[in-house]
Amino acid sequence: MSKRIAILTSGGDAPGMNACIRAVIIACQKAGHELYGYLHGYNGLVNQEYISLSFDTTHNLIQQGGTILHSARCKTFETDDGAQKSAENLSKLAIDTLIVIGGDGSFRGLKHLSTFWSGQTIGIPGTIDNDINGTDATIGYYTAIDTAMSSIDKVRDTADAFERVFLVEVMGRHAGFLALNAALSSAADYVLLPELFEGCEQELDNIICQIKAQRALKGTVSFIVVVAENVWPGGLSALSTALNAKGIDDVRPVTLGHVQRGGSPVSEDRLLATHLGAYAVSLVGSENTNIMVGEVNKLPVVVPLDTCWQNKPLNSAQVDIIRSLMNARYD
Ligand code: ADP
Repeated sequence: MSKRIAILTSGGDAPGMNACIRAVIIACQKAGHELYGYLHGYNGLVNQEYISLSFDTTHNLIQQGGTILHSARCKTFETDDGAQKSAENLSKLAIDTLIVIGGDGSFRGLKHLSTFWSGQTIGIPGTIDNDINGTDATIGYYTAIDTAMSSIDKVRDTADAFERVFLVEVMGRHAGFLALNAALSSAADYVLLPELFEGCEQELDNIICQIKAQRALKGTVSFIVVVAENVWPGGLSALSTALNAKGIDDVRPVTLGHVQRGGSPVSEDRLLATHLGAYAVSLVGSENTNIMVGEVNKLPVVVPLDTCWQNKPLNSAQVDIIRSLMNARYD
């Protein structure tokens, strides 16, 4: 039966959000559903700001980074009044199903909204951090790994030329997925991750021990430490100062920053976004509500929304690889 569906993108933007919007538009059109796009994250819901979405919006969309619906944070939506107003606006537009592409914060918001609105709610995981439980990967994660990897490759060139130590900060909020994979794929020499952090003194000892061992083996060489954001108290400058104090000079900090959120999505993100968008629309009108769609072992899954922000562990096989290849101690 034909339904009225709304979609929005919320929180940190991620490459592949547009590819997902495209898939949702096409799947809705094929199923005979009407589709509306709320603008600027949850602000659009609070302010009843939306556009109609149809086939003509989809041209050249799959390869565009960012999100045509724009994304934002919205403090008002976090209040009961904001959620109530949003629920009223959805009812005024006679929306049956709301689809939200975003991260764990956006899903908490969606859950909050569902206490005020009885329509169907479906989350699609979109964040470069990959910190969403219940899915192997999130939309944007693979592109961000590639972006970080190629940036670290470039840092390596200059680090090699000057035989310097570089500290490269990679995003991930409080999760180490992006830093771990960026470090492994760029052959970094050491990685600091929130999940494996052994404390400042121990990590400093490990890094210095490894730098000295490499220098003893090969002479002065470049040394790249990938640092997950929020892991080192005081950030890269504090870590740089701590290394200087222990006799490691000429340390250069590089923060990759928001470049990791941009760019045309790589094929893995386009495929994931397309699968999840089409799958979400296939669930419209079903009993499933307050859910997130994800992929596990390449197969679509449905998980309860409130399990998505539970802790998601790093891949244990990759952790073993770091220990054997990168963070090895030579003492
Ligand atoms: P992300 O979805 O990338 O994790 P945020 O954590 O910034 O991004 O959340 C995006 C938006 O979701 C917030 O600006 C807010 O409007 C809404 N939100 C986040 N947490 C909650 C919450 N606990 N209750 C209600 N709304 C929330």
